[in-house]
Amino acid sequence: MGGGLGRTPMIGKKIAGFVPKEDLLAYLEAVMRVYNMYGRRDNIYKARIKILVHEIGVEEMTRQVEAEFAELRKAGALHLPLEEVARIEAYFQPPSHENLPDDSAELNKAVLADRDFANWVKSNVAQHKVPGYAIVNISLKPIGGVPGDCTSDQMDAVAGIAEKYSFDELRVTHEQNLTLAHVRKKDLHAVYDLLKAHGLATPNIGLITDQIACPGLDYCALANARSIPLAQQISERFADIERQHEIGELKINTSGCINACGHHHVGHIGILGVDKKGVEYYQVTLGGAADEKTAIGDIVGRAFTEDEVVDAIETIVTTYIGVRQNGERFIDTYRRVGIDPFKESLYETH
Ligand code: SF4
Repeated sequence: MGGGLGRTPMIGKKIAGFVPKEDLLAYLEAVMRVYNMYGRRDNIYKARIKILVHEIGVEEMTRQVEAEFAELRKAGALHLPLEEVARIEAYFQPPSHENLPDDSAELNKAVLADRDFANWVKSNVAQHKVPGYAIVNISLKPIGGVPGDCTSDQMDAVAGIAEKYSFDELRVTHEQNLTLAHVRKKDLHAVYDLLKAHGLATPNIGLITDQIACPGLDYCALANARSIPLAQQISERFADIERQHEIGELKINTSGCINACGHHHVGHIGILGVDKKGVEYYQVTLGGAADEKTAIGDIVGRAFTEDEVVDAIETIVTTYIGVRQNGERFIDTYRRVGIDPFKESLYETH
């Protein structure tokens, strides 16, 4: 793979760009072999490929993987038969969509007549590539609820809705929500009514209360701090839906420890639980993103106590509203102004 490689993104580029499809299994096997040889399986806290890459560096990791891959290819082992790829692809064919006009009179009428429905459409419904259809995101983030939780009754209800209105297809997202991938626009209000009847019509997808939180200290033996109660407090602080829409797109991700199951490092606002002499603290990062401009968030300063952290989030939001221009998103404001205004307002008041 040669020298002069950059950091992690170069590995992704190389694998995606140059491994022939039929060699994918062999390449993955090579990665696993290198990890098995050098990874820290002796230490539960360090048994991760990312730890190995961090310790030996991307270039050395790449060199080792390429050497293993070359051996596997020489042995002619682990070819991925293209017929197998075709067989698996057949499972992922799109359903038989109807030929529909893209505009739906039923939908337009319902949006005008029902403000709550209009709010839900605005935040939870996304454009579908097929005319007359839409993608429905079901929020599992009711105000004050546990992010990603769903009762058995709700699961039954959603399964029924998927069966009737979305070709029996339901997806779970990494953002701890559910997605109905193919709903006819003219059925959106009926789907909304059913979701609402089961407490599943929270109109907050992509907004400040649509947080990702790992299980944290309530359930996880590796945690330094609690994640779920903190997410609940933040949700309650920003409960007002009009205010949420006024704040706009803002992703808060919380992890209870550095293992980062809540992807705090790529949250617009990231919160990481840290342990200081047996006391739970929260380190805040800003400017992380998992979009096309992927970025790791910047640490804003000293960590906050449990009592301080929700106020700190409020201060960050207020600072953003104060400096944003022309309704730009939080992340765009951060990219424009940097960390200093946030640092100043946070450590002036905390
Ligand atoms: S990030 Fe959260 S779920 Fe993951 S290991 Fe740490 S505390 Fe546990």
